[in-house]
Amino acid sequence: MSGIVYLVGSGPGGLGLLTFRAREVIDSAEVILYDQLPGDEILATLPSTAEKINCGKFGGSHTLKQEEIESLMVDRAQQGKRVVRLKGGDPFVFGRGGEEMEVLREHNIAVEVVPGITSAVAVPGCAGIPVTHRNHASQVTFLTGHEDPTKEGSAIDWGWLAGSPGTIVILMGVKNLDMITRSLIEHGMASEKPVAVIERGFRPDQRVTIGTLFDIVEKAREAGVKPPAIIIIGEVVSLYRDGSEGAWSRSDTQQ
Ligand code: SAH
Repeated sequence: MSGIVYLVGSGPGGLGLLTFRAREVIDSAEVILYDQLPGDEILATLPSTAEKINCGKFGGSHTLKQEEIESLMVDRAQQGKRVVRLKGGDPFVFGRGGEEMEVLREHNIAVEVVPGITSAVAVPGCAGIPVTHRNHASQVTFLTGHEDPTKEGSAIDWGWLAGSPGTIVILMGVKNLDMITRSLIEHGMASEKPVAVIERGFRPDQRVTIGTLFDIVEKAREAGVKPPAIIIIGEVVSLYRDGSEGAWSRSDTQQ
């Protein structure tokens, strides 16, 4: 008898934004393979009865390789177990969930996808920055900043991006912020274009750094910006008001 794997998105952080379906499958799971991104608040509520495998850190600082995660998932499902693969945000937005689904299909293992609220939309939203707006942006592009834009054969068309209207949301971009902003300016994007960097969205220590394409690198360096963070480039950033972030969660906890 074959088991099932649930590819589950935890949302951008905190129990309030975990879906009911995610809660249900987590609570009845026999095995949970989890990343660190869901955050302490959610990870503290994983059922004690489940076998829990930390895929982010293993034996100190070592990270499980993607193939190791996949073979653990396949192995436990083939033992007939109910397996949850828990990821931050949505499992199919830069989460390698698509690859994991393909591997499970190859092994004829049943898969249920449990979508999560992606940080790509929710983290800007929480800071009062809508990714679309009738007067500012009718288009939004999500991309990984993991890639060095100066690298030959980059999968991202920086020239097209620099000329595109609307909002650009970059995940995993902190390390390459310098190269990303330079690349966009070199390809003709206005250097005064507003940019926001939001670190640790929905966590108590969330922080927003505002600048322009020209000066955000300097401001981020001064602030000591660290991952995880979302970078938003576009006119919608002008809607940000200092101190408005997380107002919903603060009023919640004050009651
Ligand atoms: N599947 C996830 C993204 C995984 S890639 C999702 O849909 O949200 C990891 C990147 O997500 C991080 O490097 C960061 O850019 C972003 N991220 C996820 N959660 C975040 C949070 N709470 N605050 C800021 N950035 C976050």
